[in-house]
Amino acid sequence: MTQDAQCLICKRQEEESNPDIVLETKSFVVRHSRETNILGYLVIEAKRHILDLTEASDEEAVGYGSLLKQVMSLIRKLTGAERIYTFSLGEAVPHFHVHVIPRTDSLPRYFRGRGIMSYPLEPGLKEEQMQEVCKSLRYIVKTSAIEP
Ligand SMILES: [Zn+2]
Repeated sequence: MTQDAQCLICKRQEEESNPDIVLETKSFVVRHSRETNILGYLVIEAKRHILDLTEASDEEAVGYGSLLKQVMSLIRKLTGAERIYTFSLGEAVPHFHVHVIPRTDSLPRYFRGRGIMSYPLEPGLKEEQMQEVCKSLRYIVKTSAIEP
């Protein structure tokens, strides 16, 4: 395992358990974001400390494609989102992770498309909401065709 002691994502992955994790594969972890109050905003994180897919093995890259499809399906089942935004920047934390964000009908027009970058980071979800939504997501994973 390639890990970086200074990396926020590597550190988090060393923790015993993380209640925000909704799905895990051999090479990736999927957790609910705590960065905004958007329900169903998930983050796919590589288990290895790699900057982006150019550093992924072929197996990891193929697994990522399949997992992204599953995560998008999961978000649509949970939220009924009309669009699902995906992006990876790697600026603040240079460890490969992808933001997967539902854009529901209730999202104000101002925040749609590139406007999502202006969405306020505070307040985040309340702890009870976080646990409730993670529980629902894990239930969907368990009871549907979404395979880890
Ligand atoms: Zn890392």
